[in-house]
Amino acid sequence: MKQKQEGVLYLVATPIGNLDDITLRAINTLKEADLITAEDTRHTLKLLNHLEISKPMISYHRHNEEFRCEYLIKELKDGKNIALVSDAGTPGISDPGEEIVKECIKENIRIIPIPGACAMVNALICSGIDTKEFCFYGFLPLNKKNRKEKLEEIKGINKTVILYEAPHKIKNTLEDLKKILDKDREVVLAREITKIHEEFIRGKIDDILEKVNNLRGEMVLIIEGNHKEKENDLCHLTIEEHYKYYEEQGLEKKEIIKKIAKDRNVNKNEIYKLFI
Ligand code: SAM
Repeated sequence: MKQKQEGVLYLVATPIGNLDDITLRAINTLKEADLITAEDTRHTLKLLNHLEISKPMISYHRHNEEFRCEYLIKELKDGKNIALVSDAGTPGISDPGEEIVKECIKENIRIIPIPGACAMVNALICSGIDTKEFCFYGFLPLNKKNRKEKLEEIKGINKTVILYEAPHKIKNTLEDLKKILDKDREVVLAREITKIHEEFIRGKIDDILEKVNNLRGEMVLIIEGNHKEKENDLCHLTIEEHYKYYEEQGLEKKEIIKKIAKDRNVNKNEIYKLFI
């Protein structure tokens, strides 16, 4: 007897504003899938209506990810081809998708990306800030402690930083960033990408802060990396090399430990313990 073939999970990117940004491949995949799983079925229905596609659809979002995963895997094993879409942009990027992908890998189920719009990529390429190396952080954590830790990390990073933020939180986030960034770092706020009010606000953190009152729409922040840190970066050295670097400058042990602790942003007692 011929063995039943397993289905494929398609991760289908959808527009982030302008409906013309749907790709031909995305349309065909949505048309040919046996089932569409969407972050918000009502939202995706509007897109499907626009594309004149009628398909069975079920939700897959943050709150049902776990048990929906089980069901979707079962359907895939039964040979159904499933298209996963989020509300906008690329699934799995600050959107549901990651968990089902992990499960499919465990179960040896094929996953195919259907590329398309992604807000962070489009904000970055128009920002004018270094695109060679970047760190995407998505949304900053809301939990105070985790947020503080993330901000500390961003402070030192020498690559371009990308953040997502909601309009009602942008002012607060920029104020938090102002506390940790040097005044001269370039920042770009990319707003309403691909939509009528698309806008790129460029400047230093203070300039951007001046302009965000009552600013609406979807937003991405692109922040220049900490190049000062890059120039003086001794953290790529091993702790012994770091020590030697200052020793060769004729510094005393106590002074060296203080400097290493400052460079590495750790408590000097931790460094001290390593050298006794
Ligand atoms: N998966 C999506 C992607 O590929 O970009 C991101 C989803 S995340 C839940 C939503 C966030 O993406 C928004 O809060 C905003 O920061 C950013 N975003 C989405 N669409 C945007 C747009 N048209 N312009 C600017 N930012 C956008």
